[in-house]
Amino acid sequence: MDILKLSLAELKSALDSKKVTALEVVNLYLDRIEKHDKDIKAFLHVAADSARAEAKRYDDMRAKGEMVPPCAGIPIALKDLIVTKDMPTTCASLMLKDYYSAFDAKIVEELKEAGYIILGKLNMDQFAMGSSGETSYFQKTKNPWDLTKVPGGSSSGSAAAVAAHLVPVAIGSDTGGSIRQPAGYCGVVGLKPTYGRVSRRGAVAYSSSLDQLGPIAKTMEDAAFLMDTLSQHDELDPTSCAQVPDSFHKNLNANIKGLRLGLPKNYLTDDVDPEVKSAVLAAVEVYKNLGAEIVEIEMPHADVGISVYQMIANAEVSSNLAKFDGIEFGYRADTNDLNKIYSQTRGEALGVEVKKRIILGTYILQIDQYEEFYVRAMKIRSLIRQDYDNAFKKCDLIIGPTSSTPAFDFGGKSRTPMEMYLNDLYTVSLNLNGSCGVSIPCGFTKVGMPIGLQLQGDMYAEQTLFNAAHAYQNATDWHKREIL
Ligand code: GLN
Repeated sequence: MDILKLSLAELKSALDSKKVTALEVVNLYLDRIEKHDKDIKAFLHVAADSARAEAKRYDDMRAKGEMVPPCAGIPIALKDLIVTKDMPTTCASLMLKDYYSAFDAKIVEELKEAGYIILGKLNMDQFAMGSSGETSYFQKTKNPWDLTKVPGGSSSGSAAAVAAHLVPVAIGSDTGGSIRQPAGYCGVVGLKPTYGRVSRRGAVAYSSSLDQLGPIAKTMEDAAFLMDTLSQHDELDPTSCAQVPDSFHKNLNANIKGLRLGLPKNYLTDDVDPEVKSAVLAAVEVYKNLGAEIVEIEMPHADVGISVYQMIANAEVSSNLAKFDGIEFGYRADTNDLNKIYSQTRGEALGVEVKKRIILGTYILQIDQYEEFYVRAMKIRSLIRQDYDNAFKKCDLIIGPTSSTPAFDFGGKSRTPMEMYLNDLYTVSLNLNGSCGVSIPCGFTKVGMPIGLQLQGDMYAEQTLFNAAHAYQNATDWHKREIL
C-alpha cells in the first residue's frame, strides 16, 4: 500500500481497519519533512514529538477496541496565522516570533476533535500579504516543481507542503486569492469557501470582510472530505454561517450533465500567458465532453477588482494590525520610552510590504480622503457583487484561469509591485463578492510548471463547485503527476 497515494477517505479506512497504524503514517510524513523540507522550506515549525504522541495514543485506543474520533491519525498542517496553544504562531513576521496564543483557533479545536494530527505550522507571506511567499521574515518557500520558482502566496507553505507530499492536506487562508493562487502554482487543489462557511475565530485577521480559511489538498475529493469537519457553526464568530451542510463528501456527484459554465468574455485577454490560455480552453472542452453547457457571460468590473481590493483590504489592515504595538503581543523594541515603544516596535518588527499597506490604509481612512477612496471602493464593491449576481442568473459556475501566468522566478515580480498586484486579477473579485471558488490543476507548461483552472461559485454553492471540480478530476489526470 502506497500511503502517499491514498485519498483521505482511504487513509481513514486503512487506519480504522488497522492496515496501517497512525504512528506509521505520521512517521512517514515526518521522515519526508526531514528529508525534503530543507530544500522546500514549507514548515516554520514541526511538532514531531506531539504528533508522534497523539498517533501512539490513537493506536493504543484502537488496539484496545476503544472508540476513536472519525479521522483519528490523519496528518494535517496549518498556515502560521492560525493560532495554536502548543505551537508558536508567527504570521511569518518578526513581530510574532516565538508568540504563543492563549487559546486554539476554532478550526484547531474542530480538527483535534475529529482526530486530525497537526504536524506543524507552515510558512506564508508576512501577515498574509503577498503573492510569492517572499515577504516572510523567516524563509523563502520553494516551488516543489522547480526550486528556482516561487510557490505563490500567501499560503506558500501550505501549497508547497501538499504538492511535495510532506503532509496529505493543509489549511490556508484566502483574502484575495491566497489559497487558490499558490494551489495553482503548485499543482494542487485550493478551495476558498464561502465567507462565513469556516469559522475565522483564531485566524489572525488581515482583512476581516474578505478573509476566509480553507483547505489545500491533492484532490477535490480530499478537500470535500476535510470541509465536512470545517463547516461547523461557531457561535463565537458573528460571521459564521448557521446553516451546517449535510456532507459534501458523501454528496459528491461527478454527473454534471446540464451544468452551465460561464466563460466571461473579457477574461482571456492577450495579457494571459498563451500556455495558460490554451490549458483553460482545453479544460472547457473537457467540460463540454462531460455534458456541461458553456455560456458566454460578462463581468464588466473585473478589471477594477484589484483597485477596490487594495483600498478595502488596506483600510482594514490599518485597523486590524494596530494591536501589534509592542504592548500586548510579541516583539517589543528595546526602549522604556512609551512613544518610542510603539513606533520603534512597529518600525523594527513589521516587514516592508506590511508597513506599506498599513500606511496606505491609514491614509485612505483619513477624514478628507475617506469619501474619495474608501466609500467609493465600497460602492464599486457593490457593482462587482451585482456582476456576480447577474452572472449566476445565466450560469452555475464561472470558469477561467486562476492566475494569468504560471509560477515566476524569485525576485522577478517583487521588483515591480504593480506586476505583483496584477497577479491577483482573477482571484480578488471573488473575495469582494464573498462566494466560493477553487483552483484545480489543468495542465503543465512545456517546462513542467503546473497551471491552475479556477471555478467560481455563488454564495453557499460549494456542492455544485465540488461536483464540477471532482468531475474534471475524474476525467483527467493532471493531479496525479509526480514530483519527487
Ligand atoms: N496576493 C494577495 C495580496 O497580496 C492576496 C493575499 C491573500 O489572499 N491573503 O494581497
